[in-house]
Amino acid sequence: MKKIIVTGGAGFIGSNLVKYLLKKKYYVINIDKLSYSANPYNLKELKKNKNYVFFKVDLNNKKKIIEILKKYKPEGIFNLAAETHVDRSIDEPKNFINSNILGTFNLLEAVIKYNKKIKIVHISTDEVYGDVLKGRSSENYPYNPSSPYSSSKASSDHLIKAYIRTYKINAVISNCCNNYGPNQFPEKLIPKLIFNILNNKPLPIYAKGKNSREWMHVHDHCEALLLIYLKGKKGESYNVGSGKNLINKDIAKKLISIAKGKHLKVGKKVKIKFVKDRPGHDFRYALDNKKMLNKLKWRIKINLNDGLSQTFDWYLNNKNFFNSVSKKLYINRLGLNK
Ligand code: NAD
Repeated sequence: MKKIIVTGGAGFIGSNLVKYLLKKKYYVINIDKLSYSANPYNLKELKKNKNYVFFKVDLNNKKKIIEILKKYKPEGIFNLAAETHVDRSIDEPKNFINSNILGTFNLLEAVIKYNKKIKIVHISTDEVYGDVLKGRSSENYPYNPSSPYSSSKASSDHLIKAYIRTYKINAVISNCCNNYGPNQFPEKLIPKLIFNILNNKPLPIYAKGKNSREWMHVHDHCEALLLIYLKGKKGESYNVGSGKNLINKDIAKKLISIAKGKHLKVGKKVKIKFVKDRPGHDFRYALDNKKMLNKLKWRIKINLNDGLSQTFDWYLNNKNFFNSVSKKLYINRLGLNK
């Protein structure tokens, strides 16, 4: 059985990827330091799975990472471990430097010590390109990150590229747009809006709600990642985008109408509430996804309306997900602490 490491596998995308890889008959080694956004609920069904093992380890613990590599001899690594919330990166950039830059550096050093041939898929974001006010950013578009989060992700991408060129490691980078779906920490836009709709609370949206993002169901992202792992060319980057943009205000409106369509009680307080914009807020991200479509023959399967409706159902049927993280960490979270 082929063995694969997923770092950050207790978080949102990582936990979905772990389950997807298990379905595809891989043996999965999950390495996660269990920071606040990791949720035991995301992995509860895997406890007895004999093809799965979990290590509570920080990527910065190089010794332990080398031990795991030597013990399991995996053929590949998906590197998702990172601090991920832009607002928190403005409050406290240091955690982002430690996990996203130094963590990636340590993983690379461990890989060099163990075996350079191991294939790495480094999971990055569309945010590294910065504001894309017109057109769509291809893989050759210059990096121009705006927040401590996106600059830490950009730095880790540069490290990966430098290690490919200098030390000949076997890695590829994926740059994906915003994901939504089951298991996402409720400080992020879509689970936050769903939680507030279910709990008769206003829907906070930055500025005038016109910031534009691309959205993708996490299951489509997981399929893209395995394809990149299997067919992606060493040293290349792949944009994983849905090709469709939507402004934040319209996401909130869509979720309200989905709730009404399901005949849920939508309370009087459920209304869009515009809040003061965050500093450095990029107006638009838009990926050119032609390389994924043409070279890797990847196709999106879940359209936004169906995906959002299924996601709504998941949070509705998994209310304990919200109870398994501290409310203090997300209830009043939109916005900055300082
Ligand atoms: P998440 O915050 O839900 O999960 C991140 C996980 O990484 C957590 O379980 C956390 O405990 C773990 N982690 C953090 N620092 C670590 C460290 N130093 N050592 C070990 N584990 C550590 O985030 P997510 O939304 O699942 O994002 C996963 C990856 O995908 C990130 O690299 C992110 O930049 C990237 N990404 C996310 C999106 C999105 O829309 N969510 C889009 C594009 C790219």
